[in-house]
Amino acid sequence: KKNLFSGIQPSGIITLGNYIGALSNFVKMQDDYNCIYSIVDLHAITVRQDPLVLKKNSFELAALYIACGLNPEKCILFIQSHVSAHAELNWVLNTITYVGEVSRMTQYKDKSRKNADNINMGLMDYPVLQTADILLYNSSVVPIGADQKQHVELSRDLAIRFNGHYGDTFVVPEPVINKYGAKIMSLADPLKKMSKSDENINAFVAVTDDKDTIIRKFKRAVTDSDNVIKASKDKPGITNLLTIYSVFADKAIAAAEKEFINSNYGDFKLAVAESVIAKLTPIQEEYKRLLADKAYLNQVLINGAKQANDIARRTLSKVYKKIGFYMPE
Ligand code: ATP
Ligand code: MG
Repeated sequence: KKNLFSGIQPSGIITLGNYIGALSNFVKMQDDYNCIYSIVDLHAITVRQDPLVLKKNSFELAALYIACGLNPEKCILFIQSHVSAHAELNWVLNTITYVGEVSRMTQYKDKSRKNADNINMGLMDYPVLQTADILLYNSSVVPIGADQKQHVELSRDLAIRFNGHYGDTFVVPEPVINKYGAKIMSLADPLKKMSKSDENINAFVAVTDDKDTIIRKFKRAVTDSDNVIKASKDKPGITNLLTIYSVFADKAIAAAEKEFINSNYGDFKLAVAESVIAKLTPIQEEYKRLLADKAYLNQVLINGAKQANDIARRTLSKVYKKIGFYMPE
């Protein structure tokens, strides 16, 4: 089996975007790969986080991973800051990364715009840390949403560059991106990506939102006013809702268009909300049950960190040897 790494930031509660674009694939892939899934808290602090909220989100993300179907018996689940090799390999990789290649990354530019008072070094270094995450585990594949494609391309470049300088060391990773639902859009602005850190809570549906909240958020979703339920470039809002419906109701977009040919937007939005509620209800029940079992979740995270650390340390020693760091034997 090949290795797989991916992660989600505890920068909020995961959204339908994270679920469709990333987490649902994590679950599907766990039988076919050696999967390593991280709660990437080192990444989250590239944007200002309230310490208490960060702590809570990190723990709750562990519960959500499992509630959404990740099995800790099959994959490694851990918190990034528990394995110091991530920060260490990050440093090494910084020395082969050009400032020009990270400063032109779309996410860096986006997040710099949104956090103009805190354009810190970490924000720019984000994709290099992400590269360390991936390369430490000899990962062949990295399931991600479309917004992360550029970062994994950088990871490939850096792996190839390091191997070129120091000899064959890293596996060159491949991104795995959904054909549909790789970029779920904001409900408040269908030209923007849905993001869990959006300050407008109506822009996203969190997987923990209750029934009434989900219905309210879909009812308010920004669309056009021509009352035609059809996926097309000039109808980003309706296209986004059709994509969400098609994933949650497990129907092709064309079938969904046909189903709603005589419906108005109000009925259609309610149907989308209902399809989401039907899938999320059992996840939410499992999530609640898990949150009440703190001892179990802690044990999963302790075991996960131990397993991740074993693999990561091995890779890091190999790297240190290759670059010529002296080691008394
Ligand atoms: P933040 O706003 O803090 O960056 P986020 O919602 O973008 O949060 P991340 O933790 O950055 O979430 O990303 C986790 C995974 O979810 C990544 O693989 C990312 O590509 C994917 N993802 C994020 N947003 C979407 C989206 N709107 N549609 C599909 N996939 C997404
Ligand atoms: Mg993001």
